[in-house]
Amino acid sequence: MSDELTLTETERKAGIVRCDACPVLCRIRPDRAGACDRYANEDGRLVRVDPLVLLAKPGLARVAFVEGSDGWAGEPGANVLGRGEGAVVTGIGATTTYPDYKPAPFIVSSRHDGVDMVTVVTEGIFSYCGVKVKIDTDRYLGPEQATVRVKGEAVGHVTTAEYGSQMLSLGGVHHLTGGSKKEGVVTCDALLALCSKEAVEVAIDGGSTVVVQADRPPIVNGATEERMRVGCGSAAIGMFAPQWRDHVDEVIVVDDHITGVLSEHQGGRFLDMKPAGIRVRGRKSTPGRYFQVANPGLGWGGTDVSDPLEIIDRIDPRQAWPGLKLLMVSTTGEHSAWFELDDELKPRPAAMPAPVRAVVERIAENCEPALCTVLFMAGAGGSLRAGVTENPVRLTRSVRAALTKVTLGGAPAFVWPGGGITVMVDVAQMPANSFGYVPTPALVAPIEFTLRADDYAALGGYASRAVTLEDVLRANKVRVDT
Ligand code: SF4
Repeated sequence: MSDELTLTETERKAGIVRCDACPVLCRIRPDRAGACDRYANEDGRLVRVDPLVLLAKPGLARVAFVEGSDGWAGEPGANVLGRGEGAVVTGIGATTTYPDYKPAPFIVSSRHDGVDMVTVVTEGIFSYCGVKVKIDTDRYLGPEQATVRVKGEAVGHVTTAEYGSQMLSLGGVHHLTGGSKKEGVVTCDALLALCSKEAVEVAIDGGSTVVVQADRPPIVNGATEERMRVGCGSAAIGMFAPQWRDHVDEVIVVDDHITGVLSEHQGGRFLDMKPAGIRVRGRKSTPGRYFQVANPGLGWGGTDVSDPLEIIDRIDPRQAWPGLKLLMVSTTGEHSAWFELDDELKPRPAAMPAPVRAVVERIAENCEPALCTVLFMAGAGGSLRAGVTENPVRLTRSVRAALTKVTLGGAPAFVWPGGGITVMVDVAQMPANSFGYVPTPALVAPIEFTLRADDYAALGGYASRAVTLEDVLRANKVRVDT
């Protein structure tokens, strides 16, 4: 769309420029930025505010911080950059060609290992996008399907619990555009912050508040989570049974999912352990493995238990004996207690023997650090493909056939099987400031399609628009990241 057609005479005289990089079509005054802060009016020209980001090997990046044509010429490392060896152009700062009837902003040719390659680069505007969040914790965050809120607005929901982690699904087109305007704006802000590796506090209906930040420990109801559990209660029994064998008569590993009871468990039987007669609450799954010994919560092993003896239903006098030594421990080793049965077969707290303490500490040692993982997920199977080829379905087929590699900000994307180009990427692997937004609302994310030059020509790509990396360096403001 030309400014001639869209700006009034008065606007043109006032130096206003029109941005057509998204449907908002901002009119931008001199020295001001558009609504998304990504484009600005610089001396009557529409410019992308952020530099184009190149990824290079560390040695090259040291010599190649370049701005326009003069910064790189003559530098040996930069010349290597110019030939495209060891460096890639990302979509970060690449601009968007909206709507996509135009070729992508950068179609860059390069040579790798003697093969002519093409990388097609753009900043995609993703209306269909969200994040999948994995939170390493056993603490109860909220019921499955519960609404996840930011500033009171619904931005997603709780999905499944995985092995030591709780998954959230945030964003998506229904929250971005299917609810109120405020819901869309808050959802977009939250997604942008999470994708930018910033901390976001979410509140789960009927559950906890969690501060989520990519690659950082979750903070659940104000407490920083330190450890991901070593395994479920049954797995913990299997892992450590031989190390407990000579020091205990019974071990109960308290876990919201499967609580393990050593003497009943296959691990204890294998070691010829004597039945101890201590029966726990809950529903027996298989020998030594119990579901639902308590309610989910923030206590021992992700249950609501603060006193582990609460989960003991009864002690069978036909099997138990005075002096019986009982260890109760959680799946992270964070909680542990040692008991000995008195003459009335009542568990009495006692000092934990050093060898038992050592195994409890080993449980903790075997727990990995608890982290939040944020995967950006988006559909790139729509009009964005038309910026790559005149025949969009051929790009889809090429991706499916693994002839075209998809990256986001240089980070490898997982492409879902099935129709379309639905991608997921770990935002922690992407460079700083990879993401932006437009007020429609939608997220803006870099995307690159890399394939052999002959394959690009075969799928109807805009091969004649290809430029070298040297051309890119000469004509653009560039930031080089490693
Ligand atoms: S919101 Fe940003 S991309 Fe969209 S028209 Fe305005 S300046 Fe351009």
